[in-house]
Amino acid sequence: MLAHVAQQAPLEACGLLAGRNDRVEKVILVRNQAQSPARFVMDPYEQLQAFDWIESHGLELIGIFHSHPTGPDTASATDIAEAAYQVVYIIWSRNQHDWQVRGFWIEDDNATEIALEIGE
Ligand SMILES: [Zn+2]
Repeated sequence: MLAHVAQQAPLEACGLLAGRNDRVEKVILVRNQAQSPARFVMDPYEQLQAFDWIESHGLELIGIFHSHPTGPDTASATDIAEAAYQVVYIIWSRNQHDWQVRGFWIEDDNATEIALEIGE
């Protein structure tokens, strides 16, 4: 994920996290159709393909990630307004050269930070 996020900068990068029981088993990179440094729109065809892949592998969509190459380290008002799934929203943000990652649960127009366990 980080390699993709860093490579796409200064454009926002995005993708899906598939897994089971809150454990990520597969990161699926999705093209940012907006090709924007301040916004992401998942390419609908790639997103559909990703959903098919997840289903055919018996996994569930458990997270959506995107980056804020120059933006805040929290979910933006747009992110909250556009959050359409009951999944963890992962946001990569850049502070000078260092990337950091935070996770949020978005519900009822509120973003609540959740702890991420980053393993192997
Ligand atoms: Zn965002």
